[in-house]
Amino acid sequence: MISIQLTFDDGPGPSTARLLDVLQHARFTATFFVLGKHAQVQPALLRRMAEDGHVIGNHTWSHARDGELSDQRLKDDIAATDRLIREAFEKAGVASPERIPLRLPYGAQEGDTRLRVLASLGRSHVGWTSLFDDWVRPAPNVDRLVGAMRAHMADQIHRNEDAVLCLHDASPTAEEREATVDAVERWLSLRVY
Ligand SMILES: [Zn+2]
Repeated sequence: MISIQLTFDDGPGPSTARLLDVLQHARFTATFFVLGKHAQVQPALLRRMAEDGHVIGNHTWSHARDGELSDQRLKDDIAATDRLIREAFEKAGVASPERIPLRLPYGAQEGDTRLRVLASLGRSHVGWTSLFDDWVRPAPNVDRLVGAMRAHMADQIHRNEDAVLCLHDASPTAEEREATVDAVERWLSLRVY
């Protein structure tokens, strides 16, 4: 039996509260790779992620690309975001995990210098088995998004490999992602997981 993980990057944002409602209703736990700059202004949402049993991952503070920050600045950004995540667990009265998973903005490319920084911190990059174009403008068609999620699941089941779906509950500029929430709600209602 393969495991199926839903991961959400770039939040918390305006669509995150509804996404948490949808997940809670389906009793499904996910991983949120949050941006420190958004977490700082949405502490209640971060706390709710912890209370609801979700994994909170680090997506750095500012969503910088490879080469945009000095190594030290990237380390500081990661540490500041870790602090907010641990604070959320503390406020929720939930034990903070020993290791906070980390996903680099834009993913880890070949020769990505940020990987060297992660290695020096003893951290690794958490990737995905499929991205979905849920960040496009105008917002994607919900049926197509659900179809793509289902098709990826079918592929992974066929290969007998775990599935890590990468979706977005916000953006670096904290845009809403209502189509993503609608797609997740429909996908969960189909009980294909
Ligand atoms: Zn991102």
